[in-house]
Amino acid sequence: MTITVFNPADGSVAGEAPFMSTAEVQAAIDRTCSAFPRWSRALAKERSALLRRWFELVSADRRLFAETMVRENGKCLSEARGEIDYGLGFIEWYAEEAKRVYGDTLPSHAADAAVMVVKQPAGPTAAITPWNFPFMMITRKIATALAAGCTMIIKPSEETPLTAWLLLDYARRAGIPEGVFEMVTGDPKAIGALFTGDERIRKISFTGSTAVGKLLASACGQGLKKMTLELGGNAPFIVFDDAQFDDAIAGLVSAKLRNSGQVCISPNRVFVQAGVHDRFVAALTDKVAQIRVDQGMQEEFVVGPLINRAGFDKVAALVDQAREQGANVALGGGAHAKGGLFYEPTILSGLHDGMQLAQTEIFGPVFAIYRFEDEEEVIRRANATEYGLVAYAYTRDLGRAFRLSQQIEAGMVILNSGSVGTASVPFGGVKQSGYGREGSYYGIEEYVEVKYVLMAGLQR
Ligand code: ADP
Repeated sequence: MTITVFNPADGSVAGEAPFMSTAEVQAAIDRTCSAFPRWSRALAKERSALLRRWFELVSADRRLFAETMVRENGKCLSEARGEIDYGLGFIEWYAEEAKRVYGDTLPSHAADAAVMVVKQPAGPTAAITPWNFPFMMITRKIATALAAGCTMIIKPSEETPLTAWLLLDYARRAGIPEGVFEMVTGDPKAIGALFTGDERIRKISFTGSTAVGKLLASACGQGLKKMTLELGGNAPFIVFDDAQFDDAIAGLVSAKLRNSGQVCISPNRVFVQAGVHDRFVAALTDKVAQIRVDQGMQEEFVVGPLINRAGFDKVAALVDQAREQGANVALGGGAHAKGGLFYEPTILSGLHDGMQLAQTEIFGPVFAIYRFEDEEEVIRRANATEYGLVAYAYTRDLGRAFRLSQQIEAGMVILNSGSVGTASVPFGGVKQSGYGREGSYYGIEEYVEVKYVLMAGLQR
């Protein structure tokens, strides 16, 4: 059986992926588990060299990966290239980090004893990834697991399995063995149940919706499996009167329109202080009105289609409802004239916190602008969400920037920039946005167990 993958830009067939049976998925899980003892004992240098080789092979064929992503996801070429650089960064970073999983020796509590702390690979692991970053979501998980000495089986999104299978193909060419990195596609629920129910799998890393994350977490609870959860967000983007005005506009536009707004760290609520509010909305409208909407197989940056009909309908319903409740539509506000899954870049102002789009992850090219008066108020409003992934703020006041960094409830606070991710920083959230971190040396801690070893009887 196969899964047909459609190009969201025009509904054409982008390719096919296997719809694997339970027996096939089970066999892949078995391979992941059998490969663990050998891989976990391989020299760090050996693991590092394989990751490095994979990095080099994929780097040489970036165009193939970028075009595959444009076809199955709808993002434009320049964004696809950006994602590939970002995603390759994880393979490169963890190829290096594999050699630096250090333990400890601690001062002993007894005269005839020594205390060691070693970090051992957690075991065979599994991951489930979403469609919005078909490349980077995979490399970020697998490179960390492999560097730590874990094996991993991945179920990518069935919306975007082509990039995923291509990555596996290149991993094999690089010499990463069967079992060490496995991939399955098919029925998400059934595969999820096989992952969570298998006691040999010691950890699951999931990126996706909070609803599915909770289902998986409760299933993992049965076997006390460790998890990393990167779930939904409701990012505030705060612009103070004293902000560098043009920088704030540029940062907002690039953060918001990336992947047509289908990003968990996309600015979801833009709070603009009263003194600059009207000027900000006008300048933002001028800028966004110049950006073209189109299919992505071209050099120019364009806003692409939404991933599927359900995603499109959700965005349309949120905008329609806000409009009925009195929102001002400064730009867009409906389906794009191109038809299909293209939605107009939209700017809404005059919003209030009780509207549904203030509490929902919009996942579309919609700038939702809220007016605020002072710092204390905006911090309270920014935190008034169940999510806590990232918050952005633009201000030139150092004291205020520091207070924001302390008081905002989020795993990441980004000051005077619209750009969050890179391999060397810890990515992750708090509250309903999940737990655990990916990237940097914190990321590898998620894949190791700390073992305390006491060696006593040392005195003769
Ligand atoms: P999104 O809204 O971004 O598609 P989902 O949480 O639905 O978020 O999907 C993220 C990933 O989780 C995808 O790979 C999807 O196939 C998978 N998934 C969806 N439902 C389940 C489930 N019940 N069990 C396991 N995985 C699931």
